[in-house]
Amino acid sequence: MGVPFRIFGSAMHSWRNCMPAGMCLKSEGFASNLYDPEGSLTLAAYCAARGLHYQDVGYPIPIETFIQYGLEFQRRLVPTLEETDITRLERTSDGFALQTVDGQALSARRVVLAVGIVHFGYVPPALSGLGPDHVSHSSQHHDMGTFRGRSVAVVGAGASAVDLAALMHEAGAAVHLVARRAAILFHSPPVEPRPWLQRALNPRSGLGLGWRSRFCTDAPLLFHALPLQLRLRAVRNHLGPAPGWFVKEKVVGRVPMHLGAELTRVVVRDRHVHLTWARKGDGESTLVVDHVIAATGYRVELQRLRFLDERLRQSLRSVADTPVLTTDFEASVPGLHIVGLASANCFGPLARFAYGARFAARRLSRSLGDARLWF
Ligand SMILES: Cc1cc2nc3c(=O)[nH]c(=O)nc-3n(C[C@H](O)[C@H](O)[C@H](O)COP(=O)(O)OP(=O)(O)OC[C@H]3O[C@@H](n4cnc5c(N)ncnc54)[C@H](O)[C@@H]3O)c2cc1C
Repeated sequence: MGVPFRIFGSAMHSWRNCMPAGMCLKSEGFASNLYDPEGSLTLAAYCAARGLHYQDVGYPIPIETFIQYGLEFQRRLVPTLEETDITRLERTSDGFALQTVDGQALSARRVVLAVGIVHFGYVPPALSGLGPDHVSHSSQHHDMGTFRGRSVAVVGAGASAVDLAALMHEAGAAVHLVARRAAILFHSPPVEPRPWLQRALNPRSGLGLGWRSRFCTDAPLLFHALPLQLRLRAVRNHLGPAPGWFVKEKVVGRVPMHLGAELTRVVVRDRHVHLTWARKGDGESTLVVDHVIAATGYRVELQRLRFLDERLRQSLRSVADTPVLTTDFEASVPGLHIVGLASANCFGPLARFAYGARFAARRLSRSLGDARLWF
């Protein structure tokens, strides 16, 4: 669109640092492309060029393949990336002032925050007081080897929790899975080809099967126009915690699971964590482990973006501590745009996945291209 820009951050940061080595993507191959307008570097093309196995549907993509694909994508299509962090962002009379971690000062008329998940790891209050030796968030772990020979409780029932439990078990840790849910809702393996009636009743989309997911991928602007409470409920409930089908055999019968377990007391005694929970009709149980991992997901809270100047943070209009955005991803502070996970309450679950990048990139670049005419 001819809009001059600078881009900061670390390519594939969350995939290289905040997710476990050895995991596979839950999104299907066709839904795991990084977006460029010409479609010149799809995941399928990347894999074909390297002789790596690939299928549009039904073959879990190893995270290592996706990371290498992303790094190649950045080298070829975004070579101007500056691998440094922004440590301060504040509003000025004609735009924004930014500071990088290495002390550079710069200014911009507009800023796009695409900070993804990295600032938003959520640890529930029952665990948050334990201290870093005894509790950590799932996003702090990439190399499972560091847990070999240790006892670990993974708290959670979603993909992060089950992936971590499986990989830690394989790496030689004594892992327990503890979850409030009464059952782990594994995805079903895809069956292809499907009869026409199945396809009509349950269409495939970049977010999985079903008309709800299809609505989310095809109509994010309609989603934006839905009443607030309906949007919040849809983002909370649609595509809830569910591990991929391919992890099931790695945990069932191998990793002890304590389900329907509501944590009632967590204390550190003799350098071990004593985790006590209650189960309906089943009294209390206590597990003693070296370390607890909260695989309890991500919660967007604008206040956690500490690099935003306090006044800028306070002046952002928000609902449930997530930003209120126009259909051009613009926040209540003019010139500040926010995409990715933090935009999900406005544009729906699509914003949480790689598949959503196409909509965000096209919509935002068009709007920035138009805005250029006015400044
Ligand atoms: C365990 C797990 C499994 C997942 N599996 C899938 C999947 O299978 N398919 C899928 O589509 N999605 C999956 N996701 C969601 C995934 O996180 C998103 O799809 C994707 O990472 C979003 O990309 P993003 O660029 O918005 O954010 P991120 O990938 O989180 O990237 C954020 C970027 O912001 C930069 N940044 C942050 N703060 C600053 C700062 N102050 N200054 C400069 N740069 C900064 C970081 O360096 C990084 O480059 C998964 C998430 C998790 C946690």
